[in-house]
Amino acid sequence: MSRASSLYRLQELDLAIDRAHARLAEIDRLLSGSAAVSAARAADEKARVALQRGKASVKEAELSVAGQRAKLETAERSLYGGSVRNPKELQDLQADVESLKRHLAVLEDRALETMLALEELESAGSRAAEALASAETAQRMEYASLAGERDQLLSRTNTLQAEREAALAGVAEKDLALYSRLRDSMGGYALALLRDDSCGACGVGLSAAECQTVRNRPEPVRCHQCGRILYAG
Ligand SMILES: [Zn+2]
Repeated sequence: MSRASSLYRLQELDLAIDRAHARLAEIDRLLSGSAAVSAARAADEKARVALQRGKASVKEAELSVAGQRAKLETAERSLYGGSVRNPKELQDLQADVESLKRHLAVLEDRALETMLALEELESAGSRAAEALASAETAQRMEYASLAGERDQLLSRTNTLQAEREAALAGVAEKDLALYSRLRDSMGGYALALLRDDSCGACGVGLSAAECQTVRNRPEPVRCHQCGRILYAG
């Protein structure tokens, strides 16, 4: 193996390790929580609160109706009980009863409205709970699949690291220093393939003599434009 080819092998391994690490980071991010589940949980919580309020409104309306009925019964007992005989008082009592009845009708209408509203809230609550359950199921399935992929990637990176150690054995210290420096400054790509007598990374054309040097010289030869080490393949 030429020195460039040893470095090229090292670069392939490093790029594969980079990709595995990037995907592992992405998986960790995905495993930390799903936006869909958070949204469904918030909607479910909101529906529960609304439902509690709806139940309280129904209770309140029913109590108002019951209170009004009790008042009406009392007034009717006075009116029809026979204890009041004075026509003026009887007339006033009659008017009270009529007024209490009218207000009772209003309160009964309100109670009916709160019950209808509660039915709506109960349906909305069920829908929100179903949506949350389905988002959680989807998340569990996604988590299981991601966890499987994560295990595979971890085992793959171990293999890659071992291969990298082996590949390093064939690389001179000086070449490794150049490689590391270029990899840091060239977005991970310290080497470029020679393609149709051009640099495969920056595309600059190379003279026949330069290509010859890349192919034959034992030490690494760098692209005169981007500075990467050229590898003839
Ligand atoms: Zn170049």
